[in-house]
This record gives sequence, C-alpha cells and structure tokens, in this order.
Amino acid sequence: MTDNNNPQAWESLCLTEPVLIHKIDKKSYWIISDDLDDRAREAVNLIFNNEDDLYSFWKIGSDQELSSVAMSINAGRGSLKEQIDFIWVAPEEIERIGIELIPKLEGECFQSQKLHYDAILNKSLALELCKYLMSADDGGSHQDSGRVLRLKKGKMKRIAAYMESKACRVFLLPETDCECIKI
Ligand SMILES: [Zn+2]
Repeated sequence: MTDNNNPQAWESLCLTEPVLIHKIDKKSYWIISDDLDDRAREAVNLIFNNEDDLYSFWKIGSDQELSSVAMSINAGRGSLKEQIDFIWVAPEEIERIGIELIPKLEGECFQSQKLHYDAILNKSLALELCKYLMSADDGGSHQDSGRVLRLKKGKMKRIAAYMESKACRVFLLPETDCECIKI
C-alpha cells in the first residue's frame, strides 16, 4: 500500500538493508582526522564516553521504523524537528565485532520501543567498532558521508508531520496511547 505522505527518509539515506543506528551529537565527531587511528581514538573520546559503557542502538529497516525512532530520539530533545546525526552498522558487523545487543523497550513511541537495544561497549570494543566502520567508509557506496548520516531539519519536519498524522504518542503525551503501531 502506498502512502503519499510517507517522508521517504529511509530511501533518501540510500540504505537498503536493516541497520543499527546510534545517535551522535555532531557529525563532525566522526570525521575529525584523516589518520585512521587518530580518527577512531577521537571518536571514542567524543562519542563512546559513558561511564557505564552502555549505549543505545535502534534497528531500522523501513521508513516507518526510521520515522518512529527519530521521534523517540527527539522526544527527549528541544524539538521533535531537530536534525539527527547518527552512525550506522549492519547487524552482521555487530556480530563479527562481538558486540552483544540486549533488547530493551525504550522511548515514548510504542512502535519504536521494540526497535531499541542496549549495547555494552567498553573502550577497546568501541575503538574496534569505530576502526572497523571507518575502514569500511573508504571506497564504500556512501562516499560523501560514509557511516555517519544526517536527517536534516527539512526531513525531520516531514517526518514529524507524518508521525503526527499517524497519531504517534510523542505528540499526545502524556495521557493518550500511541496509535502509530497500527500503520
Ligand atoms: Zn509512535
């Protein structure tokens, strides 16, 4: 079934298979140096610096899923339309590196809750992940942005309008149930 209001965020990112995403504060954190070792080390310092080594990942494979996850991420920020920068990794890459993903319901949107995972990443595992993904950047099919992608403000506006039209719970807090799960 086609839906003309669909924001087509997924297609615009040129992703074809389900991926796991991890939100980062700034895209520039990922591309801070030309030297692979420096670049990976800085990324760990800037992105993977939680004291408890616990990081949120969301598994997305469609517009619907990306849109709902974007709403959940931004529900905790200043605006639902704020741009989102994130890195992505394929499930088989997560497995290869030896990162364990623990399903954990999180966020206000009922659709996105089940797409959320906790990953425990100590510094050496985080460094391995960054190095792996940064090496994969070279010669890949996403050369302008590699493993770091951005949902720009214009795209976020369309996603937010779409999710509001689907009565996503993030727009109805706190008293109403999320209806977008029925999309
Ligand atoms: Zn929702």
